[in-house]
Amino acid sequence: MKQVVHGACPHDCPDACGVLITVEDGRATKIQGDPEHPVTRGFLCAKVAKYLDRVYSPDRVLYPMRRIAAKGPAGQRSFAPHGQPGAAVPTQTDPTQAWQRISWDEALDEIASRFRAITTEFGSEAILPYSYGGTLGTLNGAFMDRRFFHRLGASQLDRTICSAAGEAGLKSVLGVKLGTEPEQFRHSKYIIAWASNIHGNNVHLWPFIT
Ligand code: SF4
Repeated sequence: MKQVVHGACPHDCPDACGVLITVEDGRATKIQGDPEHPVTRGFLCAKVAKYLDRVYSPDRVLYPMRRIAAKGPAGQRSFAPHGQPGAAVPTQTDPTQAWQRISWDEALDEIASRFRAITTEFGSEAILPYSYGGTLGTLNGAFMDRRFFHRLGASQLDRTICSAAGEAGLKSVLGVKLGTEPEQFRHSKYIIAWASNIHGNNVHLWPFIT
């Protein structure tokens, strides 16, 4: 059966381009921008236009993998697995031999035991979840991970890893952190694209001003 699913790009771009995905027998076969979307108008950036290549890539990591060799070029770095200082690790000579597939149960048991060991020795705030935007889907963006780490009692990170500088810049120039509605751009008399390439990384600005 073939159907076209309407969606939106979830990346922290965050233009939320309208997306049409053709699905045949449970497998996505085509991704394209939604020409009916009033702002993004069928556009997808180069990264997302090729998204199915990534989703179905044979190189995609689909299972838990444990590092079994030292990081970096052989002999240049040491690596102690499982938080055990000084533990012996085989030297990495073949990059394809650096990882070993393990089961989900093994992976979850190992993570849980290491979290328990850290919490017992140092307290739960010794664990810091370090992440920010990435994918802004409801489940991935700021939902299940927050619940988990709050329950664990981990340290809390102000999720502004890369945006604090931009926010400070907006406030210093405009006094507030406000965006501009796309429909308003055409009324601007003068737009300065400061330190940005709007053809590459602010792609939905330029159609409104050209
Ligand atoms: S420009 Fe690219 S990353 Fe940004 S919302 Fe559109 S498709 Fe997603």
